[in-house]
Amino acid sequence: MNLIFLGAPGAGKGTQAEYVCERMSIPAISTGNMLREAVKNGTPDGVKAKDFMDRGDLVPDEVVIGIIKDRIAQDDAQNGFILDGFPRTVEQADALEKMGVKIDLVVEIYVPEERICARMSGRRVCDSCGASYHIDYKPTKVDGKCDSCDGNAVQRADDDPSTVLSRLNTYHEKTAPLRDFYARIGKLKTVEGQEEIDDTRRLTFEAIGLK
Ligand code: AMP
Repeated sequence: MNLIFLGAPGAGKGTQAEYVCERMSIPAISTGNMLREAVKNGTPDGVKAKDFMDRGDLVPDEVVIGIIKDRIAQDDAQNGFILDGFPRTVEQADALEKMGVKIDLVVEIYVPEERICARMSGRRVCDSCGASYHIDYKPTKVDGKCDSCDGNAVQRADDDPSTVLSRLNTYHEKTAPLRDFYARIGKLKTVEGQEEIDDTRRLTFEAIGLK
C-alpha cells in the first residue's frame, strides 16, 4: 500500500505514520526528517533548504521532488510506503503522478487550528533518528533522551510560535488545496485528531482498514 499522510504542522501525522509503518512493515518517508538530516550534514540539498525551513516556508519543489524520487526508488520502499509531509503542493502531487506512483489512500489528520499552537509547544523530536515525542501526550521514558537511540529529544527551531504561524499560513495557502485534489478522485479519508494519541491511532488504523 502506498499511503499519504496529510495534515497541518503539529496535527500528529508523523506520530501516526510511525505507528502505521510499524504495523505494516513499510517505511514512513518524512521529507521534513530527510531535510533536517541534510541541513545537519551540510549536503547541497541541505544548504539549499536551510533558509526556507528557518523561515517556515516550503523548500522549492524541485529540491523536495528530487529527494522523494531517490528515496522511493530504494529497495525497502518497493512493497509500499507512507509519505509524511509530501506532497505539500499541487505541483508535488502532479510530480508524484508523473513518476508513475499509484497512491491507494490519503489520510488527513485534522486538528482545529486553536489546538495546534498548544500542541506544538510541547513537541520534541530526536536530533539523531527523528522519532517524535510530546511532553504531555507521548513523553520519552528518560527526560530529554530518545527511547529508540542515544539521541536527544529536543524542540525544533521551527516550532517557535512565530514560525508556527508562518507554517500554518503556508499550509492553508499551498497544502490544504491537496485535500480537494485527492477528495475529487475518491482517495481522501479524514481522521479527527483526538486528545489521546491512542484514540487517534485507533481511528487512523480504522481508516486504513487495519485491525
Ligand atoms: P515537517 O517536519 O514535515 O513539518 O517539515 C519541516 C519543514 O521542512 C517545512 O516547514 C518545510 O520547510 C520543509 N518541508 C518538508 N516537507 C516539504 C515538502 N514536501 N515541500 C517543501 N518543503 C518541505
